[in-house]
Amino acid sequence: MRYHSHVMVSLCIGAAAAAYTHLPFTASYTAGVVIGSLLPDIDEPKSYVGRRSFGMANKVKEAFGHRGMTHSLVVWGAIAAIVIGESSSPFSLGFVLGYLFHILEDFLSVQGVPLLWPFQTKKYKLPLYRTGSIIEKLLFYSSFALFIYIGTEHQLFYEWVKSLSFHR
Ligand SMILES: [Zn+2]
Repeated sequence: MRYHSHVMVSLCIGAAAAAYTHLPFTASYTAGVVIGSLLPDIDEPKSYVGRRSFGMANKVKEAFGHRGMTHSLVVWGAIAAIVIGESSSPFSLGFVLGYLFHILEDFLSVQGVPLLWPFQTKKYKLPLYRTGSIIEKLLFYSSFALFIYIGTEHQLFYEWVKSLSFHR
């Protein structure tokens, strides 16, 4: 999945999560979701974050391969425990969720993800789309539409703008 699809689909699920739970749909929450949804591809030098990682992507890919450790639920759990342990701010919650949504989104691709690394190297998948395919584009546009719908229906955009709280 390309980075803009990861961001859009993750924002959509993030908005739904905020609409149906007590999660605050604030600017820092959405920033966390966006960053979290991009970070797992740090193991791919050609990805959006990889190209901005100052060569770190090459090192991670060399050591673990693409869609390796950074796409594992075990690694996610460890990162989540550290981040939430540090602070349970809206940004941290968004970050942890965005990261999880990324793994879920790649799980739906034909390439799959090693959910149980390091215990298993097997790649799990529920193949729904191929990266760059028409189905991925459909996922992008339907997430966009659904995001606007949920945001409007549940006053999330209002809450988001309010969270910017301009101080004078
Ligand atoms: Zn990925």
